[in-house]
Amino acid sequence: MPLTPKTRKYLIIFLILGWGTTLGYLALRGDKKETTKAQRLWRQNRLLMGTFWEVTSTDKDAADIVFSEAGRIEKLLSKYIPESEISQLNRKGKLEVSPDTFYIIKKAKELWEKTGGAFDITVAPLVDIWGFSEKEYRIPSEQLIKETLRLVGCDKIILHEKNNVVKFMFPGMKIDLGAIAKGFALDKAVAKLKKNNIRNCLINAGGQVYALGEAPAGKWKVAIQDPRKQEISRAVELKDASISTSGDYEQFFFKNGRRYCHILNPKKGYPAESGIASVTVIDNSGLKADALSTAALILGREGLETLKNEFPEAEFLAIKETQ
Ligand code: ADP
Ligand code: MG
Repeated sequence: MPLTPKTRKYLIIFLILGWGTTLGYLALRGDKKETTKAQRLWRQNRLLMGTFWEVTSTDKDAADIVFSEAGRIEKLLSKYIPESEISQLNRKGKLEVSPDTFYIIKKAKELWEKTGGAFDITVAPLVDIWGFSEKEYRIPSEQLIKETLRLVGCDKIILHEKNNVVKFMFPGMKIDLGAIAKGFALDKAVAKLKKNNIRNCLINAGGQVYALGEAPAGKWKVAIQDPRKQEISRAVELKDASISTSGDYEQFFFKNGRRYCHILNPKKGYPAESGIASVTVIDNSGLKADALSTAALILGREGLETLKNEFPEAEFLAIKETQ
């Protein structure tokens, strides 16, 4: 699993717990005036979906629940696991999948529509020819890009609701859930926590965060650090919401003085060059926050306005232009 880009992102968004913080195992005071009893916060880390996950909660069991659910989702959706449902589907072109896999593909198709085709999980063959899957970066020929673009477009995915069958219209098509799977895993993990009556938890999945309920000292606070500088650009308070950042600095290569990033414009077949270098999205769905931050990076300033109208419930912030 590629780790470097994600571990970098881990450093970009970090967390402020209550008003004071020490790392590791914490004892914080509740902020409610009548509360005098100190509440412990438990914090645990795990490597999952190619990135560091960190779970913080007053409930000792929260981390195990989150890790086990995220691990289950990773096994279904990772293109780096040969026996995952996504790998099988990509090899066979048709597969009866689990309800979770069917759900995420269906959601991805809806988001493709609503983002005017900017968010597109069928970019996988493009991701391959640019060498982002294997981290052997190259600029493909115009001809190859043109041919590959024939395999791209979510309208070429056929969904059979009755039996959870997913089918590709053309051989060679593949899907890549890299821009949405983490957000989905966060949502699923939060649902599991709620089922177990756990009411507060902060999950940081390599920079994408979900804040469930409140910290003992009030709302969870997440600081967003400017990717190109070392300072915090702003801190936000979160409750029952997710925050996701996509940036052209996450994974990229330089050739002939140009930057080529890992987020691809599915219409052009080239890495996004929209004038936006990074964007942060807050939404109460982790899946949506994840997908929308990716889409915004492709659409640029103008497209962002359309996106804001289409998704009035989402908050777009910390938008950085390319210099
Ligand atoms: P990160 O994975 O670093 O959090 P993103 O959520 O923005 O960043 O996802 C980027 C990944 O999504 C890429 O590595 C690639 O696998 C995939 N991808 C690239 N372009 C698109 C696109 N236009 N639509 C959907 N997924 C994409
Ligand atoms: Mg994303």
